[in-house]
Amino acid sequence: MHYQPQPELLHNRIILVTGAGDGIGREAALTYARHGAQLILLGRTLSKLQAVKQEIHQLGLAPAATVEFDLLTAAPADYQKLADEIAAAYPHLDGVLNNAGLLGTINPLAEQNYQEFCDVMQVNVNASLLLTQAVLPLLLKSPSASLIFTSSSVGRTGRAGWGAYAISKFATEGMMQVLADEYKNTHLRVNCINPGGTRTSMRASAFPDEDPHKLKTPADIMPLYLYLMGDDSRRKTGMSFDAQPGRKPGPAE
Ligand code: NDP
Repeated sequence: MHYQPQPELLHNRIILVTGAGDGIGREAALTYARHGAQLILLGRTLSKLQAVKQEIHQLGLAPAATVEFDLLTAAPADYQKLADEIAAAYPHLDGVLNNAGLLGTINPLAEQNYQEFCDVMQVNVNASLLLTQAVLPLLLKSPSASLIFTSSSVGRTGRAGWGAYAISKFATEGMMQVLADEYKNTHLRVNCINPGGTRTSMRASAFPDEDPHKLKTPADIMPLYLYLMGDDSRRKTGMSFDAQPGRKPGPAE
């Protein structure tokens, strides 16, 4: 995407990123901070979140907060407690990037382990719903809020072997569309990003034989993440965007 964001695009915006300790979420958090946002970094590995927080601090940017939170094991009440803690520290939320994800095993649906299916759905779908429900009042207090979900090409066209992950990404697209329709007359917009094949540890476990240097890096795909988080996308809602338009799904050639 050719997008030239203003350097201060996200000045004073308060943004929560899930899975902010690694991969695309880490890069998005750092990118949003560089454009002026105050970050709430949520993830399950505190040391990784602290490293991102430290990097933001060393760059002299707005201080970030870390939230150690396991989206696989958290109960519904934990999400409400989290939202209460955020509400005690911040006046509102201007953006949420639901980015954390679980791949599961690549194998035929006939062999899909049921517990693993539940785990993938828990992290990729149920947790996004619970987090969204809990923080909606904070998003609705913002004059212009952006709620972003993370999809995948296998969330639009099913592909053999992608089992629970593909099903969870179809559900994510559906959740985005329902929410966008429910909030279409508000200042809250709701959209999906399909990152496309990107050089991260999740991608490496999905395609272990692939040359990672043939893939875009998380930094390469940030223009779309900025566009959808900032006010230039104010009128866009209910849409699913490709961070790498035209890229063919599957292994890099
Ligand atoms: P990574 O595996 O590199 O990072 C995922 C992040 O999510 C990690 O920080 C991880 O934490 C966190 N996470 C995983 N499970 C939990 C949990 N139970 N609780 C809290 N945090 C958790 O993945 P990517 O950066 O590649 O993927 C980011 C998103 O993009 C995902 O939704 C993925 O499905 C999607 N995507 C990625 C593509 C790609 O090619 N990379 C392509 C299409 C979609 P920890 O670091 O502690 O493990």
